[in-house]
Amino acid sequence: MSDQAASPDRAARIAESVKAVVIAAGTQSWLASLAIHLGLMVVLALVLGTIQVARVIHNAAQFEAVEEATLAVTSIEPIVLIEPIYEPTIIILDSLAAEPPATDPLSTSLSESLEAIGQPGGSGLPDAPLGSLDIPANGIGPLIRSALSTGPGSGAPASGIASPYSPRKGGPKVGATEPSEQAVAAALNWLARHQNSDGSWSLNHTPRCKSGFCSGPGQAQSDAAATALGLLPLLAAGQTHQSEGPYKKTVSGGINWLLKNQKPSGDLSAGAHQMYAHGLATIALCEAYGMTQDSRVGPAAQAAIRFIESGQNGQGSWRYIHGSDDSDTSVFGWQVMALKSGQMAGLKVNPASLDGSQRYLKLCASGKYGSEFSYSPGGRATSTMTSVGLLTSQYLGARRSDPVVLGGIEYLTKHPPQLNDRNTYYWYYATQAMHNVPGPEWDAWNRQMRRILTDTQERSGCSAGSWDPAKPFDDPWGSQGGRLMVTSLSCLTLEVYYRYLPLYTLDQ
Ligand SMILES: [Zn+2]
Repeated sequence: MSDQAASPDRAARIAESVKAVVIAAGTQSWLASLAIHLGLMVVLALVLGTIQVARVIHNAAQFEAVEEATLAVTSIEPIVLIEPIYEPTIIILDSLAAEPPATDPLSTSLSESLEAIGQPGGSGLPDAPLGSLDIPANGIGPLIRSALSTGPGSGAPASGIASPYSPRKGGPKVGATEPSEQAVAAALNWLARHQNSDGSWSLNHTPRCKSGFCSGPGQAQSDAAATALGLLPLLAAGQTHQSEGPYKKTVSGGINWLLKNQKPSGDLSAGAHQMYAHGLATIALCEAYGMTQDSRVGPAAQAAIRFIESGQNGQGSWRYIHGSDDSDTSVFGWQVMALKSGQMAGLKVNPASLDGSQRYLKLCASGKYGSEFSYSPGGRATSTMTSVGLLTSQYLGARRSDPVVLGGIEYLTKHPPQLNDRNTYYWYYATQAMHNVPGPEWDAWNRQMRRILTDTQERSGCSAGSWDPAKPFDDPWGSQGGRLMVTSLSCLTLEVYYRYLPLYTLDQ
């Protein structure tokens, strides 16, 4: 894998494309300007990033996400904010420019909240019973498989270098369409409208509903996980606490909340669903740091990375509780993505932790090519865990020609997205993994995935821009993660086009 970069020509083309869309829509000049800037931000963000989230077995959901982002916001001209136009019932491309802060003005600045780092957390959140997001283990089965190779090396050791987010050259064309872009804009609008007044999000989003009611509150209680899920799609779209985009306050509020609730140990979970929430929140901070290189965010993100490293067990993995001897591939995936995100953001990551992660993958691998993965070592492989194993293998250094990658892509191709077998967690992981390997398999996957998501997005009322976790089919995440999680993951899936370039573009 390699860091590549979007060329200036590519940036210019995208910016022109965005400008053309806006002009064609007959919008005002400020919108055109905004669109151009957003386009440039997107290009700069075309680096690596990831996210992802949970999955389910036996109706129990689980989280998992990762991401990395990029960009040097310092080189971007501030966008002039205009008076927001709040109209949740209309999904338009310029939703991004029409987003009002969904919450009350934040009383604390980012720097103020950062001063709280090192103090005990205390979000006041009720501690949900641990395990309510758990996925039942599949039991212990025959172990291992030596054939699996996760490729060369474990990634670059912590360099501490400020900007490993060098844009990449080449790469396939952006896979987004106007409908998919509209869907993303509307989803960001919904997320912002359902942010809590203190800057956090909750899996039970319903208290934030106005002029209507959005069904499907999540039963799990983890505002840290929810806040990460709220932030990640915004960050993926280039919205940061520093950029003068329409979501500046929204993002700032979420980051503030995470920082204020970080424990001295670096733990970002705010006490619930510890490693799931921490992994997700770490990704959000790493992404924010990677995009801004904000020296105020860096230490918090670094401490969060250290917390992950110190909690890795002898198998090279993690489970719900920090330092647990147990392992599961879902929790594992979030931590690995966080480590990778931190590495891409220029934070220090211990190579030994990445090496340990490779060891764990081998414990869960099976199948002809060692490319199918189970929830726990020696267990039965599932499509969802295979998508996690494949993507993390890619991020840990597996080459395109590696049997794990080839076999994994073949496996996912045989398990394409199907509306009547809905699983946003699988879709998100698998879309990332497929997107990394350009080719006809990715094209077919992309068309189907994009169509399913754009066709099923809510289009009116308070719920406009979100995805119903129960309609047209139940999502396995619906009960625990609720509408917020399903919407976040769906949006992130559609953002793969401009959040990343395929890992293997330059390998060919
Ligand atoms: Zn609502």
